Amino acid sequence: MRAVVTGGAGFLGSHLCERLLQAEHEVVCVDNFLTSGPENIEHLMDDRRFQFRHRDITEGLDEPGEVDAVFHMASPASPADYLKLPLETLRVGSAGTWHALDLAAAKGARFLLASTSESYGDPLVHPQPESYWGHVNPVGPRSVYDEAKRFGEALTTAYRRSRGVDAKIVRIFNTFGPRMRPDDGRAIPTFIRQALSGEPITVTGDGKQTRSLCYVDDLVDGLMRMIGSSHGGPVNLGNPHEITMLELAQWISKLTESPSEIVLVPRPQDDPEKRRPSITLARELLDWNPMTPVEHGLRETVRDFRRRIDFDDLGTTSRRHPVTVVNGTAHR
Ligand code: NAD
Repeated sequence: MRAVVTGGAGFLGSHLCERLLQAEHEVVCVDNFLTSGPENIEHLMDDRRFQFRHRDITEGLDEPGEVDAVFHMASPASPADYLKLPLETLRVGSAGTWHALDLAAAKGARFLLASTSESYGDPLVHPQPESYWGHVNPVGPRSVYDEAKRFGEALTTAYRRSRGVDAKIVRIFNTFGPRMRPDDGRAIPTFIRQALSGEPITVTGDGKQTRSLCYVDDLVDGLMRMIGSSHGGPVNLGNPHEITMLELAQWISKLTESPSEIVLVPRPQDDPEKRRPSITLARELLDWNPMTPVEHGLRETVRDFRRRIDFDDLGTTSRRHPVTVVNGTAHR
């Protein structure tokens, strides 16, 4: 298979590129580093089956030669990123998805949209099955992401119905693992960064809101199963094991043997109260189950943070090995 991965330099995209290469596929990774950096794909650059295109997909997406699959992963994904980049998020979810679908249609390739549990908004149904239409505030701050993804789902479905594209939708629930950015604002990297640098660990609200956390290897396995299946979805991918944010903070504090205290800070607007996927469909259609215990995933993530990042006593962080890419080649 020759696969195009948009957003392939991001957290999930880079793990997906790695998995595709391990399975002997060819990979074209397209990214503009809007919310990532070349260090995520530096180790793949010498593989002759890996090609990198530094490109903004909202401006178009052409790729010469055969393409068998398009994985559309490009989009700011953490609340901190999409709140800072509202128009870029809407553009990549609309024009970017359009271009990625056009590429799949032109090449007769399979297409997979990385949608999100945010499509359910602040859900009134718990756990969330794929049949639930969601509870989204269309003019709230998070709408730039939620509605972009909902539009992407509608567009993907329209290409499937009217253009015959073998297009699939997965709704990804909170996923974590190595290569997350320590400053991306999501709970796990924030708590680990704070714990390792001795800053207070900041839990929002009363800490009783829940999330379900899936390790990245399991998630990528789900993406591979979905692209190989005959199903269009949407299919939820996530770990149904639910924990409160306070429990998560305590767990990370213990794992890192951190001296940091846990403090409660105000909760952001429209922050969902509960998140837990129903994965009955993924089990039935894809024979998929998250296999990695959360504790193992947290240990791997902490190890990666310790390896990559200098934590000084003042709580500021810096990368150990900054990397730049020029003409598709990585330089230190
Ligand atoms: P990420 O920010 O690490 O990766 C996104 C990548 O897309 C980055 O490399 C970024 O530079 C690239 N990108 C953004 N706009 C682009 C553009 N216009 N042109 C080219 N590249 C562009 O985020 P992630 O966590 O890896 O998420 C990947 C995908 O999975 C996203 O679509 C996200 O919505 C979805 N998702 C992720 C999670 C999660 O828990 N990580 C949950 C639900 C959905």
